[in-house]
Amino acid sequence: MVGNVVIVGAGQAAVQAIDTLRRHHFGGRLTLIGAEPELPYQRPPLSKKYLAGALARERLLLRPASFYAQHAVETRLGRRVEAIERREQRLRLDDGTSVAYDALLLATGSRPRPLAVPGTDLEGVYSLRTVADAERIRPALICGARLVIVGGGYIGLEVAATARESGAEVTVLEFAPRVIGRVTCNAVSDFYATEHERRGVRIVCGARVQAIAAHGTPQRVRAVITEDGQEYAADAVLLGVGAVPASELASNAGLPCEDGIRVDEYCRTTDPAIYAAGDCANLPSPHYGRRLRLESVDNAFEQGASAALNLLGQTTVHDRVPWFWSDQYDLKLVIVGISAGYDEVVLRGNPASRAFTACYLREGELIALDSINTPKDQLAARKLIPARARPDRARLADPGVTLQQAC
Ligand SMILES: Cc1cc2nc3c(=O)[nH]c(=O)nc-3n(C[C@H](O)[C@H](O)[C@H](O)COP(=O)(O)OP(=O)(O)OC[C@H]3O[C@@H](n4cnc5c(N)ncnc54)[C@H](O)[C@@H]3O)c2cc1C
Repeated sequence: MVGNVVIVGAGQAAVQAIDTLRRHHFGGRLTLIGAEPELPYQRPPLSKKYLAGALARERLLLRPASFYAQHAVETRLGRRVEAIERREQRLRLDDGTSVAYDALLLATGSRPRPLAVPGTDLEGVYSLRTVADAERIRPALICGARLVIVGGGYIGLEVAATARESGAEVTVLEFAPRVIGRVTCNAVSDFYATEHERRGVRIVCGARVQAIAAHGTPQRVRAVITEDGQEYAADAVLLGVGAVPASELASNAGLPCEDGIRVDEYCRTTDPAIYAAGDCANLPSPHYGRRLRLESVDNAFEQGASAALNLLGQTTVHDRVPWFWSDQYDLKLVIVGISAGYDEVVLRGNPASRAFTACYLREGELIALDSINTPKDQLAARKLIPARARPDRARLADPGVTLQQAC
């Protein structure tokens, strides 16, 4: 029985683990250590309402300050863990102190992927992960300011929507042939590109950034230059080229890492006292038959809960079909499941109506779904995909037939 649990990383997964531990009557010592000075907060609004200035800072908090006192959590915020001393079951912090553990949960999240070109350290070049990042970017989103976003993934497109609604002139440079192409089919990419262009966002695909150019003293961003010699004038640049898992604590401690901290289906590393959950963790998915590392609120929430149960000895296999959402303008995209490996896409509804669903099939089985303003479909999919539903193609393509009736 563990008596002293320490969680490193004060984010979504950590909060859910705390909630689950105490709900399941863990009466031992519980410590939360986080590098950011804030209590755990929601990141999704950072590219949406909070960036737009339409949400107060306090509303970001995942739980009020009183939650941590009520749950007897010792918080050490603004403190980075520098090393795990596994033999001694002890952590070394950046203020020189040590914290002992019986069980350790690594919930260290991910960080923006760096872009390896000259000029990323210039004034006016940003990335977006933390509330402090959002507050630095916000003043740049003013009417008429030229914002160049490198990367047409979710964060890039969400910021594009927020910036456009603030009146900024927005250009998105995407290296791939289409935006959000890593996880969606052509129809969904085309739809989003059209929606952005309709509102005045310039989208340039196949654009490989070579450098970010400067002017003035101190040196400030002037333009983004692509390999074909084009210059895109910029007052500000957002780098949105994906995220990398914060797994260095684990790898430096000799724990296996490969695209995240490798854990088993119980969220446990090869060290039986150490678990990992959320963006930093790479788990086997029994449903999909392969390893996954995911970056979503649902994933961090569910893995934080699973890790906590396993840490208490309540053996729980983590086998969930994940889901993710993205809000851009008045469009709500919900992705259920993992579409990788699909061999067929069936559309329900017409993209021109601005409410449609893309269903991804593999050998006839529904493996994933992108729902754009079709809440009934995504809710149904959350049950049908785990049940390995095999829809009738013709009925699936008919939006007059419910998803349940098609399966
Ligand atoms: C701008 C933005 C928009 C997003 N929008 C959506 C969305 O619309 N829908 C959705 O599902 N998901 C969205 N996400 C993703 C979602 O927010 C993340 O998947 C989720 O926050 C991951 O939670 P986590 O607990 O794994 O990590 P995090 O919330 O990142 O928390 C990890 C914490 O660990 C700390 N840490 C790291 N290393 C150390 C260390 N050595 N010592 C101490 N502390 C450390 C970090 O500083 C960080 O505070 C968005 C993310 C961002 C950045």
